[in-house]
Amino acid sequence: MSIQRIGVIGAGQMGTGISHVLSLAGYDIVLDDINKDALGKALGLIEKNMHRQAAKGVIQESEIAPALARIRITQTLDDLKDRELVIEAATEDEALKKKIYQELSPHLAPGAMIATNTSSISVTRLAAATDRPERFIGLHFMNPVPLMQLVEVIKGIATDEPTFQAALEIVKRVGKTAAYAEDFPAFIVNRILLPMINEAVYTLYEGVGNVDAIDTAMRLGANHPMGPLQLADFIGLDTCLAVMQVLFEGLADSKYRPCPLLVKYVEAGWLGKKTGRGFYDYRGEHPVPTR
Ligand code: NAD
Repeated sequence: MSIQRIGVIGAGQMGTGISHVLSLAGYDIVLDDINKDALGKALGLIEKNMHRQAAKGVIQESEIAPALARIRITQTLDDLKDRELVIEAATEDEALKKKIYQELSPHLAPGAMIATNTSSISVTRLAAATDRPERFIGLHFMNPVPLMQLVEVIKGIATDEPTFQAALEIVKRVGKTAAYAEDFPAFIVNRILLPMINEAVYTLYEGVGNVDAIDTAMRLGANHPMGPLQLADFIGLDTCLAVMQVLFEGLADSKYRPCPLLVKYVEAGWLGKKTGRGFYDYRGEHPVPTR
């Protein structure tokens, strides 16, 4: 099964990055979002980031125009009808994702694959909401997609071998490395990473350190390239909270209890970099800690 035509649903941080790397690898892309502004923003960002890569010598300037020409945007699921694979990268919300699959499936050819970029939700459960659980898989790209080398590949209980092999081939063609993860809450990377971020928020909540102290401590004391609160802002605090809730409910262990302060930031709409404010305020020239 060699795939050429790919649909991407969700033109947020992840859908934008996924479209970027796939188009550079020669795939034909249709990018769908319910939000028209997100689609316009995605195209602008992809172009800007490709030029940035060219300036660094990662890609050739001459690759940019053909790659951009391979991306079309749409707000109509029927425009995905000739896609051999659709990668769903919409908001981390199980009900929303299931609704997307139900609306999408009738438009697709029976043999087409569906992949989810979910950070944490059960691939088996999402697959069961489709008409093709055997051709459904988790393809978990990391943020920012053009820079991050890893893609977690997660089989649901029904995922068949050709689907798994097709997913591995895509990872290889975009020049990334696959790590196979079993279908348990949050898979590998987020199972380990998000409890650490949540613990950093507890450290802030309990007054052990302020934002600056916590991030400085982990950057210089644990040699992390980014502090955990800066990383949380970068991931999106709504996504962080959603992953913690999946761990808490899926593993039924109180050690995964989302920090009330994380909940408060999300309730305030302070979702991190994407909304201009989170543990840092990004609205000025330099990020300023909010606590
Ligand atoms: P985001 O908030 O930046 O983007 C989500 C996009 O989905 C928005 O543009 C929204 O308009 C769109 N959307 C919502 N409902 C839709 C629908 N019915 N049809 C089409 N589009 C719809 O979120 P994100 O950070 O890009 O995350 C997307 C997915 O990727 C989530 O499942 C998330 O868990 C996962 N993920 C996120 C990260 C990260 O670091 N942010 C990393 C890996 C995986």
